Amino acid sequence: MPRRNSELLIQSASRLFAAGAGTEIRVKLEGHSRTLGVHEARGPFFGECRVLRGDGELVAVGAVHLEVSVPCRRCVEPVVDRRATSFDGRFVTFGSPRVDAEMDEYDPDVFALDQNGSIDLTELLRETVIASIYPNALCRPDCAGLCPVCGSNLNVGDCGCEGYDVDPRWAPLKQLMEESLAQSELDGE
Ligand SMILES: [Zn+2]
Ligand SMILES: [Zn+2]
Repeated sequence: MPRRNSELLIQSASRLFAAGAGTEIRVKLEGHSRTLGVHEARGPFFGECRVLRGDGELVAVGAVHLEVSVPCRRCVEPVVDRRATSFDGRFVTFGSPRVDAEMDEYDPDVFALDQNGSIDLTELLRETVIASIYPNALCRPDCAGLCPVCGSNLNVGDCGCEGYDVDPRWAPLKQLMEESLAQSELDGE
């Protein structure tokens, strides 16, 4: 039976070094995404992790299901994405030269076990989730964005501002042209 763990800590993972090749442990992951310190991640997460003994290192592989919310780049309404994010990371013993930036053996891609020989997945998961966030999210492919005059969300309906009832697909272009026109006026051209 996989053990439950809410703290993203896999206790005494280092015992795998003493076990035979091919030994692995499986851990259920469960907790709240606030543990990860990623602003866009929210709500509870759950997943599973396998830890395998590699050559002088432990390999942690798994996936977590969590909800990520980012603002639409046109209308700034939240775009919520519920997905599985897979991760894998390598862990070496506490104090290893591979995690010491001063040493030749230093490898920025490996993590250290803690002093008790446990794996803390927090930093690995945090980096993986951040890397998986798509920065140019759209709430829908034809999002009409915000009215440049009154700021209304044009997906909800026409705000009635003069001259802005263009085809929504062209709205960002029109907005750009108007911004540039406004800028020329400011520049006194
Ligand atoms: Zn949108
Ligand atoms: Zn408007």
